[in-house]
Amino acid sequence: MTLSEKDQIHIWHPYTQHKTSKPSIAIVRGEGALLWDENNTEYIDAIASWWVNPYGHSNQFIADAIYKQLTTLEHVLFGGFTHEPAILLAEKLMEILPKNQQKLFFSDNGSTAVEVAIKVALQYFFNKGEKKTTIIAFENAFHGDTFGAMAASGISFFTEAFQGMFIDVVRIPVPTKGQEQESFDALRNSIKNNNCAAFIFEPLVQGAAGMVMFAPDSLDKLIQICQENKVFTIADEVMTGFGKTGKTFACDYLIEKPDMMCLSKALTGGTIPMAITTFKQDIFEAFYNEDTNKALFHGHTFTANPTGCAAALASLSLLQTQEMQDNIARINKSHLAFQNHIESHPKVATTRVLGVIFALKIQTESTESYYGSLRNKLYNFFIENGIILRPVGNIIYILPPYIITDKQLQKVYEVVEKALEIV
Ligand SMILES: *Cc1c(COP(=O)(O)O)cnc(C)c1O
Repeated sequence: MTLSEKDQIHIWHPYTQHKTSKPSIAIVRGEGALLWDENNTEYIDAIASWWVNPYGHSNQFIADAIYKQLTTLEHVLFGGFTHEPAILLAEKLMEILPKNQQKLFFSDNGSTAVEVAIKVALQYFFNKGEKKTTIIAFENAFHGDTFGAMAASGISFFTEAFQGMFIDVVRIPVPTKGQEQESFDALRNSIKNNNCAAFIFEPLVQGAAGMVMFAPDSLDKLIQICQENKVFTIADEVMTGFGKTGKTFACDYLIEKPDMMCLSKALTGGTIPMAITTFKQDIFEAFYNEDTNKALFHGHTFTANPTGCAAALASLSLLQTQEMQDNIARINKSHLAFQNHIESHPKVATTRVLGVIFALKIQTESTESYYGSLRNKLYNFFIENGIILRPVGNIIYILPPYIITDKQLQKVYEVVEKALEIV
């Protein structure tokens, strides 16, 4: 039996309808931007394995840091104890985060980073004796699959079965070009008509919605409206963080800064699950009290796992090398050239580029569902051509590891262009 066949006996995969999906491809090895399956077929990982892996698969530098930490102190509980890797990582993040971020809370994944931010926003007002229980979020947002994160997420495809079981969320339009005023007005009205605790958003790029982009000045305006009305702002940088937009954080494009930030995905270079939620000092202070009950009673068993912290520290030092910054600039330049080449193609409706993110919307007559037939056809075409891309409805996006070679990137573009012929 192949690994792919054995897999089907006991394993349940994410976002998968097992009855209609092909068996999962068993990957046995990875190096740089490449992956190999059990038949030695080669694939270019053009989405950095769901946006987690900027520095390449099986990265030796991160692996060495992990090994060293594993054989020094692999894990220790974080309640009542601390350790140097967590402290060093906190110090390192303080150097690169917006200056207003002063406290950080560890968890395991993007969804938990969001849960922590939402719970902190809600409990902040509880601790102050105020009743603010509504969260504001964008249409088509994605913030994760746990209940709080799901509530904030707006892609109904993912959350349909759970409607009516969520915390209160009001949704506003994304300030894409031409829709800015509508978005600002909706935010003002939402705040006026509800007891809003916080506004959560993916800054500048909505990843899971298909790399939907909007301008920094619009987000600045939305943040200002929140500040005027004492509504917390939560920047979910789980996808956008660590260089994807061309700057370390998407928030680095902003004049206004969010009150809280959520980090995960590329934090550990795609090696060990870890997430961090960061806060302004005055948020922490609303929990700092003689009253035990005002503390944040939230935690996860593997909070601040030292091995994860060591992986994050190694990843951050890679991100900060000139070589990696040059790679990000190189991919951006390459994307812009491809955009210039492809945007007038008759099957292309729109294109957009930010940092290492490229997205292209295919001209279709009907609206395509998230995991619809066009999407599946494209996905299979890419796999047959040795490229891992996961289109969203009729949107094809590329988000490669920063170390992808020019030759590999050109091959991805060629296959994307060929794919337009089959639609
Ligand atoms: C992926 C993602 C999440 C959820 O992260 P998980 O690690 O999958 O739980 C949350 N927010 C954004 C913006 C994401 O892209």
